Amino acid sequence: MALENDTLEPAVPQRCQVCGAALIPSEQRAILDSESPPLCSIHAAEVMPVDGEAEAEEL
Ligand SMILES: [Zn+2]
Repeated sequence: MALENDTLEPAVPQRCQVCGAALIPSEQRAILDSESPPLCSIHAAEVMPVDGEAEAEEL
């Protein structure tokens, strides 16, 4: 029996839904792994703020 893997692959987001920036493979993997909306690393951080770094340091 031949399995058609092409039809079983989940849809990989190509671009950030906010800014339209092309997503890099590691970002795509993180999105698929966490079932998050297609966001680049910048906007993903805005949607889900990380505890520990409350405010950006002023340099
Ligand atoms: Zn973005």
